[in-house]
Amino acid sequence: MKINFKWYRCADGYEIRELPNYEGPQIISRSDRMEICRPLDSHSAILRIISEIETFDNYIKFVSIYGLLTHRTKPESVKIISSFSKNISEMIEAYDKKKFNLIESYFNQSKVCKINLKLDTSLASPYLLAEPENLLQAIWIQFGVMVILNQGQEKCALCQKWFAVGLGTGRRKMRRNIKKSFCCGAHARRLEYITRGKY
Ligand SMILES: [Zn+2]
Repeated sequence: MKINFKWYRCADGYEIRELPNYEGPQIISRSDRMEICRPLDSHSAILRIISEIETFDNYIKFVSIYGLLTHRTKPESVKIISSFSKNISEMIEAYDKKKFNLIESYFNQSKVCKINLKLDTSLASPYLLAEPENLLQAIWIQFGVMVILNQGQEKCALCQKWFAVGLGTGRRKMRRNIKKSFCCGAHARRLEYITRGKY
């Protein structure tokens, strides 16, 4: 399955504020200047990023790069992003421990319903194309795909960037006897060079 997801983020960034008639702190865009982004294309392991963010500063950083979770422009409660981050991190933990019944019930309760699905037969191997309505759905779909294809994510030992590995990602999972993973060949060579320089 492929995920076709175009989203929007504010070109002038976001801030957190209390607003009249809204409960709790809200993340709001600084202006109406929206630009198109493709969060799942620009980062293959966005679900790991959201699972690790915990502070207001990190929320702002996340939405400035990938946009809000549930809609493009309206204020979004900080609670939405913090509870989503917690859900995803619990689900990744359940996945790592192979607790599939827990994942199933959580996933099916999440707001992934009503996704547009298309069948594309224009290529030699036809595929299903999912078109999520918002970033929250897109990340849940990415999670579902990870589970069914037995994918994983690894962190680069040099730049600490997460990337997806396994079937359909273009990257192999790290072999058991290898301790470090790298996002690219250049970073593997760079770390070797730095480490060698120290001794
Ligand atoms: Zn790297």
